[in-house]
Amino acid sequence: MIDIYGKCGCNCGRCPAFKAHAKTMEDRKRCQNAWNKYLGTNLKKFKWIYCDGCQTPDPWKSGNILPDRGCYLRPCAIKMKITTCAQCSAYPCEELKGRIPGKDFRKRVTQRLGKPILEKDYRAFVEPYEGLKHLQEIRASLSPKEIVQMPEIEPLKAKIVDFPAALPFPRKKQSAFESLYRLIMNILTARTQTYARQELIKRRQQHFLSLLWVFGRYGKFIKKNSSHVVIDNETLGSVPDFKSIIRKRDNTLHSTIRQCFRIFRDYGARAEYVTVKKKERLLRLSFTKRAGGIDALKALKSYVSRLVDTFGEPAYAGAYRYKGESFKRFSMADMRVFMKKGK
Ligand code: SF4
Ligand code: SF4
Repeated sequence: MIDIYGKCGCNCGRCPAFKAHAKTMEDRKRCQNAWNKYLGTNLKKFKWIYCDGCQTPDPWKSGNILPDRGCYLRPCAIKMKITTCAQCSAYPCEELKGRIPGKDFRKRVTQRLGKPILEKDYRAFVEPYEGLKHLQEIRASLSPKEIVQMPEIEPLKAKIVDFPAALPFPRKKQSAFESLYRLIMNILTARTQTYARQELIKRRQQHFLSLLWVFGRYGKFIKKNSSHVVIDNETLGSVPDFKSIIRKRDNTLHSTIRQCFRIFRDYGARAEYVTVKKKERLLRLSFTKRAGGIDALKALKSYVSRLVDTFGEPAYAGAYRYKGESFKRFSMADMRVFMKKGK
């Protein structure tokens, strides 16, 4: 085995899914068992476990699923024209730290297993993924000249309707709608400091929009002047819109949604999934002052209601998608629905 580091520092050369080690079905089955046991995955099939490696220019050419097609670190490093994240001026960025384990990984695996892991199994199935640890070593070997500066990143091109010149509202209400408009625009254009963050937001745009939509549609202010809207347990269990948000298996949030919650915070939107009684869970959303506070939250509810009243209820199409004119307009931050003719 030789060391071949992926962009994120994971060691493809020692990974059991790497092409050199996953030639037979027995190899792949062994990898599946190890990943389920040590990495906590829930893989049911093993035939597709075969990877050309992260550093291969076009690793999916032969139809492989691996390396992870959803990875947002690899495209970032490719745009930066660097071999690994260790060469990046933004290293270690939030996205890298949030996705890739470091030297504490063994401890975490041991805690989850409830017993120590055999040294040979650690070497074979855990250590290759301690990417942050490997990057640290690579970084220490680089000279300042080898570090590549992250450029200023262009926002994404997005279909956004201009904010109406004059909404028929008093100044304070208009400014709440402007805050909401800015939030949706930020999601759609993804102005970020790194390509990784932009790539992540781009891939999660539907999740963000669908989350905002459900808060606008089903969120309730429980008390007068409450700073947040709440979606109660009963709604969570009875409306299909939440199937892709909350995992049926253990009643927790999908990891993609947890990611969205984390990014929402940077925009001043604080989304939470909290337990109130033993088995009762709520989804909650509040906006900080920067995001327009309670007035912007009221604007969200009022915007969604007006869209539904005018264009009808969209049909939930699964996987964070809705079909219908009202959601289409919401996805373009089209607020002309408040203008006199609703156009
Ligand atoms: S997680 Fe991404 S960057 Fe890391 S090895 Fe896999 S594809 Fe490459
Ligand atoms: S911004 Fe993050 S993901 Fe992108 S190259 Fe730098 S460290 Fe890697």
